[in-house]
Amino acid sequence: MTVRTRFAPSPTGFIHLGNIRSALYPWAFARSTGGEFILRIEDTDVERSSQAAVDVIIEGMAWLGLDHDEGPFYQMQRMDRYKEVLGQMKAAGLVYPCYMSVGELDALRERQMANKEKPRYDGTWRPEPGKTLPPVPEGVQPVLRFKNPMGGVVAWEDKVKGRIEISNDELDDLVIARPDGTPTYNFCVVVDDIDMRITHVIRGDDHVNNTPRQINIFRALGEEPPVYAHLPTVLNEQGEKMSKRSGAKPVTQFRDEGFLADAVVNYLARLGWSHGDDEIFSREQFLQWFNLDHLGRSAAQFDEAKLRWVNAQHMKAMADGPLAQLVAQQLQKRGIAADDRLPGICALFKDRCDTTVALADWAVKFYTPVQPDPNEVAKHVVEGVRPAVGMLAAMLESCPWNRPAIGEAIKEVLRATGMKMPQLAMPVRVLVMGTAQTPSLDAVLELCGREEVLSRLKAV
Ligand code: GLU
Repeated sequence: MTVRTRFAPSPTGFIHLGNIRSALYPWAFARSTGGEFILRIEDTDVERSSQAAVDVIIEGMAWLGLDHDEGPFYQMQRMDRYKEVLGQMKAAGLVYPCYMSVGELDALRERQMANKEKPRYDGTWRPEPGKTLPPVPEGVQPVLRFKNPMGGVVAWEDKVKGRIEISNDELDDLVIARPDGTPTYNFCVVVDDIDMRITHVIRGDDHVNNTPRQINIFRALGEEPPVYAHLPTVLNEQGEKMSKRSGAKPVTQFRDEGFLADAVVNYLARLGWSHGDDEIFSREQFLQWFNLDHLGRSAAQFDEAKLRWVNAQHMKAMADGPLAQLVAQQLQKRGIAADDRLPGICALFKDRCDTTVALADWAVKFYTPVQPDPNEVAKHVVEGVRPAVGMLAAMLESCPWNRPAIGEAIKEVLRATGMKMPQLAMPVRVLVMGTAQTPSLDAVLELCGREEVLSRLKAV
């Protein structure tokens, strides 16, 4: 059997990290088992769905490398197919028209609540042998209800939650088509999961309540339901369910803020799944290790500081060439064209940065004039060091332009003036990089380039 999984987002609001984790696991399961991963856009809530939200889903998945084998399929484009299956269910007597008006349903609910019963449809219009149905009211378009089995239980072995068992008597007859004939959510999901031959449904546990209803529809259609794995919620830093309303950022914003796709995949993978104590791993390792048996059972809490730490680890481990390409994109957004110094700049500064944006902030200092921090100038570029800075500038004018020669020139000035390294290095850093906190001075100067170093040293 080929594993077939899907991600089925509703494009209502911009997809955030909590949502996209529900894409990561089915994708990883498909990839690690040689299976197929399908993207399905559940856009039947026409009022709330938007193309912009679809775009963020597709862009976000592409950025994270969550490639799909089939789709995107759009539910709105499959209406004819749902109606076809509805027709088959009608013909097979699996559904029935219900003419109960909204007013009658409200009154029923109120009676049930007053009697402390769980509100549910009471089966008034459900045809049974020997039962007389009420007279059909005129001019009323009925909804179609699914004949849920009576008695017995629906049970499944959830890959995360273990065995879940629901009594059929808890489930009333679900509306599966509205008066205008449009099919409802739970029904479309089942038709899609059947047609797309989904073997494993891995989704958020906000759908656990839908699952017994969906399983009953599967069986009524003569199909065995897939394996289910319901993932615990992702909480935000305040401990609430992560949501756009509570300020969750769209996935693509993390790309724009300089996070690496592999780091985000690593972080999200750990947010609900584990491989021993491994914190930092590559995409390849993740796919080698991933299985449904180590999904966590409790809600995971998002922690941006942790994500930054994971990102910093991935930046350190990343080769300078590819890292420079990402930093070049950040520079381009600021109107700066990078050159072949950028991999060297990345190598020198990546240890002190947790995003490519922070790395670009450093790189900018090599490509545009710096504005030394006046406090640092006042503190380090004091009267007494100016002659030494001048002497260094003179030596740098003619020495070979490489790190050892630049280092030698600095030492020469120290010897001649009797100054200590920080007394010279701090003012030079402030003048050349705008700040006294930089990596090794000779390396910084080499990358900055002779012309630029000389003009910056002479600027004050
Ligand atoms: N469209 C649903 C959602 O975005 C997912 C449905 C499913 O995975 O079955 O929550």
